[in-house]
Amino acid sequence: MTTIKPQPRQTQENSPTAGVPKPYQLISLPAESPKKSKPAGQDRFKNDRLSGFIGLRLTVKTSAFIASGVVAMGSDLSNTTRNIPLIKTSLDRNQQLLIPGSSLKGVVRSTYEAITRSCLCKVTRRYQEQVPSGYKECVINRQRNQVEVCAACQVFGAMDWQGLVHFTDAQCEKTGFSTGFMPSLYRPRPDERRAYFNQQGKVAGRKFYYHAVKSVDAGDRGIPVQQAGKEFTFITQLRFMNLTQAELGTLLIVLGQDKQNKMALKVGGGKPVGMGTMVVDVTEIDLIKSKEEWRDRYSNYDSQPPSLTEKALEEFVQKIIKVAHSEKLVQDKQLQELKQVLQWPTDRQPPEGVY
Ligand SMILES: [Zn+2]
Repeated sequence: MTTIKPQPRQTQENSPTAGVPKPYQLISLPAESPKKSKPAGQDRFKNDRLSGFIGLRLTVKTSAFIASGVVAMGSDLSNTTRNIPLIKTSLDRNQQLLIPGSSLKGVVRSTYEAITRSCLCKVTRRYQEQVPSGYKECVINRQRNQVEVCAACQVFGAMDWQGLVHFTDAQCEKTGFSTGFMPSLYRPRPDERRAYFNQQGKVAGRKFYYHAVKSVDAGDRGIPVQQAGKEFTFITQLRFMNLTQAELGTLLIVLGQDKQNKMALKVGGGKPVGMGTMVVDVTEIDLIKSKEEWRDRYSNYDSQPPSLTEKALEEFVQKIIKVAHSEKLVQDKQLQELKQVLQWPTDRQPPEGVY
């Protein structure tokens, strides 16, 4: 009889990164499991809730790589990368870098999930048994009239349930890109696992990568990628409909607007090697009061000045962030844990010896 020897899995212990401090941290699950309720939905404009647009500017602080799925030959780029495939990032038709709205939404959602009582979604089927009861992904069953979902699913949507926020693609404010060399260990992967399992295979928390002062560039040993260099800026717009004050406040905390809990986003590939740090500025908020106004703005956003800018904007933002805290939609313990990982600025150095 032959026994099949299991292939050693690449773990923290036997990988080439052994001995390097781990570039991520686990954010614990809130002690109280997700609180589910019926979502507001987008079918009706609700006057006791908030709807409108948020103008955002993202400033790149460490090189950022957003995979487009397209690979080109390095010979298109330069002689030194002649035989190496160059991994392309997303460009729009004007050759400007682009961050798809769906990518941004994913980043914002996972942070929102971590600091609220939300389900563990997108856990691979084979690990479903390891998800603590009460934290399983929200499922809507219309036939049985089960339409209650967790805090994050209310805002960002669940399977068969449209969320209350929409992110448009973020456009770079200038043309062109820079070229970086990503350590091959951290080549872009379809999706980095978001939940983390302990040695017993149980879900131990949500995984978040630290920011670092700069990203690792592996030089000619790395994989050449098109990237957004430091201080590149992107602009985008977030539309929201029927949010409570606490929900909008929580969204703004995630976007780094809470003065007591300043954080930056981590967007795209190469997170373990310090890539993808982006600081968000809220440039304007336009609150919409009626369905008619909503329709007008939707079709022609630039026709009227936004309702909140500068001082009024700042006051509004801080006011509703306070509501998010006081109504305890935001879980303070998890926020404090997350702040240790995502705070910006940081003096943390990127991991060495990983390429
Ligand atoms: Zn959920």
